[in-house]
Amino acid sequence: MRLVVLGGGESGVGTAILGKQKGYDVFVSDFGKIKESYKEVLIQNAIAWEDEKHTESLILNADVVMKSPGIPEKAPIVKKLIEKGIPVISEIEFAAPFTKAVTIGITGSNGKTTTTMLTYHLLKSAGLNVGLAGNIGKSFAEQVAEDKYDSYVLELSSFQLDGIINYKPHIAIITNISPDHLDRYDYKYENYIDSKFRITMNQTEEDYLIYDADDEAISDWLKKNKTRAKLIPFSLTKTFEEGAFIKNNTMEAIINQEEFKMETESIALEGKHNLKNAMAATSVAKLMQIRKATIRESLSNFQGVEHRLEKVLKIQNVQYINDSKATNVNATFFALDSMTTPTVWIVGGVDKGNDYNELMALVREKVKAIICLGVDNRKIIDAFGNVVDIMVEVNNMNDAVKMAQRITEKGDTVLLSPACASFDLFENYEDRGRQFKAAVHNL
Ligand code: ADP
Repeated sequence: MRLVVLGGGESGVGTAILGKQKGYDVFVSDFGKIKESYKEVLIQNAIAWEDEKHTESLILNADVVMKSPGIPEKAPIVKKLIEKGIPVISEIEFAAPFTKAVTIGITGSNGKTTTTMLTYHLLKSAGLNVGLAGNIGKSFAEQVAEDKYDSYVLELSSFQLDGIINYKPHIAIITNISPDHLDRYDYKYENYIDSKFRITMNQTEEDYLIYDADDEAISDWLKKNKTRAKLIPFSLTKTFEEGAFIKNNTMEAIINQEEFKMETESIALEGKHNLKNAMAATSVAKLMQIRKATIRESLSNFQGVEHRLEKVLKIQNVQYINDSKATNVNATFFALDSMTTPTVWIVGGVDKGNDYNELMALVREKVKAIICLGVDNRKIIDAFGNVVDIMVEVNNMNDAVKMAQRITEKGDTVLLSPACASFDLFENYEDRGRQFKAAVHNL
């Protein structure tokens, strides 16, 4: 059997290692440059590879192709493979049949990483032999090759899900759905929603789908379509006989007729969106029969993930918060919503088709000044120019932070929550967040 791997990054190299171990004739092809560290791994494992080209004669003879999530289906080589009827699948699809481990698959437009890390933290604290993979850290395929874990928590992007045929998680979570990555879905929101719901398409009656019942796109889909999985909803506003919800400042999760309660105040993560993430992760913990005391302790000591509403420093009683991962309006909505003091908001970057009206009420209520940090800030200025008193444009992070310090008074918050991608001024969102933190430390 010939396995061709398109893309020599983390998931590609991991898949190649697993394929080789299982006896496939493996070939890795990357149209860009493969990183030196990955090349070394391929050479060590005696796996054939090429980069900066796709040699068709070595690719179109595949029995199965693993396509890395970054490669669009429109890429010419992928089109040719599909025309020839060769299955093009994702890493998860390729690797899953080689492990007996239970998988928990987490998708959604926002909150995937936070919910994945929190779920992992809950299960690991309970002593389960659990691995963490998907879009995070070491590839799932390579971990399957090492065969170390009884269960995995997987962060799954829609691109990973587009490449599944038979894969099913035992427990699936859809955190929420809002428009994103539409360029990969023919600019049709329905296509993107359908892609997220692929997470449940192979689930059966013994499986579970945990989802945000406050989310319109999710509720609509569930009204019109069927899943065989058992549904476990969570909500900030409704209550359920089975599911997770908030009542009298207490989070309750009722699963298999067992109840778990915890005061929201004792949950370390802040903000309404994080209550949702906590409800989703707690539902998994209950399904996996984790003890209440362990759940309680884990929720009260999980400090969150870097660049997601991350508290950096308090200087002269001004709190600086790094939410660089907020690359769309929905994420920034929840960041502003969780502000409890007057806020100086640093926003801007590469706009992916934002509708800033969704933020208008929150900006009026909480934002005293806006610092635009982007190459082209026109849309932001048009939207909020008449709404806030102070609006400044800067073109680097140091100036943004210094300007913020000048504007703030004791008790204020400075929030970096850009609602935009970072590629105009930064390498990526991590670079943007790190520069923010460095600038704050230098004040
Ligand atoms: P993802 O992996 O889906 O991008 P992250 O956990 O990295 O999600 O969070 C991305 C951004 O979205 C951060 O700014 C974070 O504060 C915000 N966020 C986290 N959880 C949610 C949620 N449930 N709903 C909306 N925004 C969220």
